[in-house]
Amino acid sequence: MIFEPELEAMPLEQLAALQLERVRSLVARVKERVPLYRERLEGVEPGDLGSLDDLARLPFTRKDDLRDTYPLGMLAVPREQLARIHASSGTTGKPTIVAYTAGDLDLFARVNARALAMGGAEPGMTLHNAYGYGLFTGGLGIHDGGERLGLNVVPVSGGMTERQLTLIQDLRPDVITCTPSYALTLAHALTERGTEPGEISLRYAVLGAEPWTERMREEIDASLGVTCTNIFGLSEVIGPGVSCECVEERDGSHVNEDHFLPEIVDRETGEPVAEGDEGVLVFTTLTKEALPLVRYWTGDICSLSREPCSCGRTLARMGPIVGRSDDMLIVRGVNVYPSQVGGVLGRVPELSPHFGLVVRRLGTLDEVEVLVEPKADVLAALTDERVEEIAVRAASLLRDTIGCTMAVTLVGPGEAPRSDGGKIQRVRDLR
Ligand code: AMP
Ligand code: ZN
Repeated sequence: MIFEPELEAMPLEQLAALQLERVRSLVARVKERVPLYRERLEGVEPGDLGSLDDLARLPFTRKDDLRDTYPLGMLAVPREQLARIHASSGTTGKPTIVAYTAGDLDLFARVNARALAMGGAEPGMTLHNAYGYGLFTGGLGIHDGGERLGLNVVPVSGGMTERQLTLIQDLRPDVITCTPSYALTLAHALTERGTEPGEISLRYAVLGAEPWTERMREEIDASLGVTCTNIFGLSEVIGPGVSCECVEERDGSHVNEDHFLPEIVDRETGEPVAEGDEGVLVFTTLTKEALPLVRYWTGDICSLSREPCSCGRTLARMGPIVGRSDDMLIVRGVNVYPSQVGGVLGRVPELSPHFGLVVRRLGTLDEVEVLVEPKADVLAALTDERVEEIAVRAASLLRDTIGCTMAVTLVGPGEAPRSDGGKIQRVRDLR
């Protein structure tokens, strides 16, 4: 079913006109209210934007802009009008804070109601929501969307797999939402219990927050007995519900582009790419009140298609995220930048600046091993106990600062990656 058919299946000319009108009022609004934009958009008048193509003349907004104005320097409303705060799962010590007015929360609920309906959910169904509740946008975002659609939402949150299975068996939900890697964990645990996919009630799974593959999709479909769809989003734009696949095609995620205007640009030049080509995904938030963003550089790489879809929606479809323009990794739902890892290791006096990361998939979960060389003068006097002590201290510092558990291994001179003249390859991703 289509939750908001008059908007999701709007004729394309009408959609473009709506977007242009919204872009113009956005530019006026941010110039008036956000110091960063007042400066950056100097000389740009809303009336100068004759068509959506003119958007490409405006500068990008980047994650660093949010970091530089931490925590709430890019707000476009007075603080008293905020109704909620969330944060991006990646941290550099300080998370990226995002804020919502009551109007933004209404929008957040609506786009997630759309996404759940795209994934097969219908009013009256029960939703087992295993996205984490808290600062992360996934739990509460999907929760509100489920309620808005008319689902009975079970706010399970992440973790405690045995309890999840019991709730799935006893409450007989129709739909599950979580990360794809956690869906696989649940599926394996079910198999261990000796439960057949046909014995559980689940029919649909709406999965996202991290990259996944068609192979994982097949495995989840078969092992949970569901039809699973991909949901995409990022905190800076709103959280989950920026786009979602329709259950009819499961071939690209319909972007809720009456609210989030997508562009694909070349990762080096920032120029728009030809339709269908891959590049960096950029979003302009058309209706968000508290934290409106003009041309936000997501760093995610994908393509965009305007091929008509059999579900009837006219919303453009984005392909799967095939990479990042930066070196961000997503490990068990946490965004990890190698540079952050380097920063934390730098606080351990015995360690040299030479380090690398190895990412593996053990079973269904991602594991990160940090390889780091001790300083040369420390090396001479290292005993086994001392090696162990340094590694444990570094690992706990990483966990406390970045929020992701990683194993630390001390390696010999020259064993951590070095630059061969070009960009250093710090990450070996074996997933
Ligand atoms: P956060 O703001 O912490 O929720 O992280 C947002 C990032 O998670 C995005 O920029 C993507 O890199 C990633 N992400 C979210 N959903 C998906 C998805 N369905 N497929 C691939 N990557 C995703
Ligand atoms: Zn569709």
